Amino acid sequence: MKVTEYFEKAEDKTLISFEVLPPLKGGSMKSIFDVLDPLMEFKPPFIDVTYHREEYVYQKNANGYYEKTSIRKRPGTVGICAAIMHRYGVDAVPHLICGGFTKEDTENALIDLNFLNINNVLAIRGDARKFDGRFIAEEGGHNYAVDLVKQIAHMNAGGYLDSNIENGARTNFCIGVAGYPEKHFEAPNFQTDLKFTKEKIDAGADYIVTQMFFDNQNFFAYVKACREAGIEVPIVPGLKPLTKLYQLKSLPRMFYVNMPEALVKELEKVSKPAMAKEVGIEWCIEQSKELKKFGVPCLHYYTMGDVDTIKRIAREVY
Ligand code: FAD
Repeated sequence: MKVTEYFEKAEDKTLISFEVLPPLKGGSMKSIFDVLDPLMEFKPPFIDVTYHREEYVYQKNANGYYEKTSIRKRPGTVGICAAIMHRYGVDAVPHLICGGFTKEDTENALIDLNFLNINNVLAIRGDARKFDGRFIAEEGGHNYAVDLVKQIAHMNAGGYLDSNIENGARTNFCIGVAGYPEKHFEAPNFQTDLKFTKEKIDAGADYIVTQMFFDNQNFFAYVKACREAGIEVPIVPGLKPLTKLYQLKSLPRMFYVNMPEALVKELEKVSKPAMAKEVGIEWCIEQSKELKKFGVPCLHYYTMGDVDTIKRIAREVY
């Protein structure tokens, strides 16, 4: 079933969903099941699985010189999606990125997903590779998520890259895209970013999942701005609990989010690391409850492997 159909069916009820990361290469499916098994009691209708582009690493060769090598550290997104659907009977939402894909690669990936009966996809651009400094698309690939959305929508209408294909099988993807309550870090300003988000919706995206945020006022303002800009699709808040004191600095650095003063003040009072986790969990519970009251279609938790924390929060909220 499509993600948006779950929202429609749930009417005013707020659903719950989770995002998992493929394990590092060499890991096993067990690590995914270890996260998801305990979360199934909350009956998520869908689970997101992230996609990770290849990265450059420097490896020593036989002559003792360092060589720049390209590796994918977290492969397996599609396989994990299939395994999740098989084990739990819930829908999986693979993230599909522009980075590292030609349009042909994208088309082939979408054909695989379609044949696996995966009808949902989160279409995103992907971040820059570590040593690139800025996002560089694959030659013959997409520069922006909007172009990926257009390609998926084109396949939903039976269109393939090869114009000789007539009456091609129509795919039936529900397309999610990313949104940024505090604006995407590369965008010159909030309004410009919103304009590009609207382009993704106009190109065929069905719903938005937001970047994490710690101040609900930012989310409420974002929803208002989206609605004023004519974006009418469901907007799902993405939530990540802060569990370590150092995340006060690392999360803003990595995700370009602001920490509200009240949360900073609470954390300043903390004398032991374990207490920081308690503050973060309590904050996320309060955020979740308020968002639920606001009537969001779903609360989407970035698990990042920390199942116990997510479970504690979900138990308080659902
Ligand atoms: P876009 O929508 O393409 O926007 C990127 C930037 O370009 C923005 O600043 C935007 O304002 C601007 N822009 C957009 N269109 C145009 C245009 N036509 N002309 C000029 N400027 C334009 N990353 C991963 O690698 N794997 C994942 O699985 C993953 N999952 C994510 C899930 C969620 C919910 C979120 C919020 C992010 C996720 N990311 C993931 C991170 C994401 O890839 C980065 O935030 C990336 O930098 C931007 O992706 P996007 O799809 O928002 O890009």
